[in-house]
Amino acid sequence: MAPTDRDAAAPGALPTLTHVTVPASPATAGPTLPLRPELAGLEPYGAPQLDVPVLLNVNENPYAPSEAVVADVAAAVAQATRGLNRYPDRDFEALRADLAAYLLAESGVALGVEQLWAANGSNEVMLHLLQAFGGPGRTALSFAPTYSMYPEYARDTSTAWVAGRREDDFSLDVDVACAAIAEHRPSVVLLASPNNPTGTALPAATVRAVLDAAAAVPGGCVVVVDEAYGEFRRRGTPSALELLADHPHLAVSRTMSKAFGLAGARVGYLAASRALVDTLRVVRLPYHLSAVTQAVARAALAHSAELMAQVGSLRDERDALVRWLRERGLQVADSDANFVLFGLFEDRHAVWQGLLDRGVLIREVGPPGWLRVSVGTPQETRAFQDALVEVAGL
Ligand SMILES: *Cc1c(COP(=O)(O)O)cnc(C)c1O
Repeated sequence: MAPTDRDAAAPGALPTLTHVTVPASPATAGPTLPLRPELAGLEPYGAPQLDVPVLLNVNENPYAPSEAVVADVAAAVAQATRGLNRYPDRDFEALRADLAAYLLAESGVALGVEQLWAANGSNEVMLHLLQAFGGPGRTALSFAPTYSMYPEYARDTSTAWVAGRREDDFSLDVDVACAAIAEHRPSVVLLASPNNPTGTALPAATVRAVLDAAAAVPGGCVVVVDEAYGEFRRRGTPSALELLADHPHLAVSRTMSKAFGLAGARVGYLAASRALVDTLRVVRLPYHLSAVTQAVARAALAHSAELMAQVGSLRDERDALVRWLRERGLQVADSDANFVLFGLFEDRHAVWQGLLDRGVLIREVGPPGWLRVSVGTPQETRAFQDALVEVAGL
């Protein structure tokens, strides 16, 4: 290794770092990157982002923010920008108060500011949960088919991952769930309700039984109910928010990405006991939620009544789409979300590709034979239906 200038200037002062080898030319192989073995050869997660006219693949709200929302968000961002020389409010108390007010209006559950938490998408919220309650020697448990990011949170926090099974109709058998908890003694259980990719929601009795089983795990177990699609639940489907008062080991995760139509803003949040939220404050990076993000979220939340009206029409569209698919003889999972899982196709990839060829992008996900389509505008849904009739010969 060639001596550096510093070696020459101070002979003998510092040993040369012989384990660092700088390649002689770009063509020469560099030093080995000490990648964790469990990450070797892995691809980053993500649905294909293709430029086609009808995008029904990632469960976004098809309606862009109204001009009134745009104007208020822009003004709030301008105001936040005037203070960007300073770090933002680390504990984002004003945003947490707004989120508590929103959940009271949406679910009728009253929560204190200290029971709310937020981060850059609910994916980051759930990573915080795994950072606090997972880790080496610990286990996270969920029930497949479910959200494909859950095993990644576990992997990234060196938490062991166990996937139990849902029934053929995608419901969760209480005895199976409780037996899995007793057997694996997880420190975290992740339940998506409504579930992705199936759209199915869990009855309150199932969530209660899981909470009881979790409470019996030696060393403790946190139950995370991921309600990313909570606002789309059908009348009579409960929210796990109603169980928070009696269950300090429950965390209910929500997001502004789906019903709220703000996927690009990256704001997720959760509600839990104060004790649980306090642990998340330990693992978060300081100032993780930028002043701009906080301003955008608060300005949008001020329009929540208007946005919730839109959710009502998406629910109606969803129910009509479920009926339409069933009338054509297809199997459709009950949906409390803004998407529908349908099948069964012998060659689902051919159907997916045929739709794409007609400008409609949906998602090839879930058990073999099934496809998932997001609820779009009435025009987008029509384009999907027309394309499906052609491709599948319905
Ligand atoms: C879309 C989705 C989320 C939301 O992720 P964000 O990071 O908030 O955009 C969370 N959970 C499930 C099951 C989802 O499908």
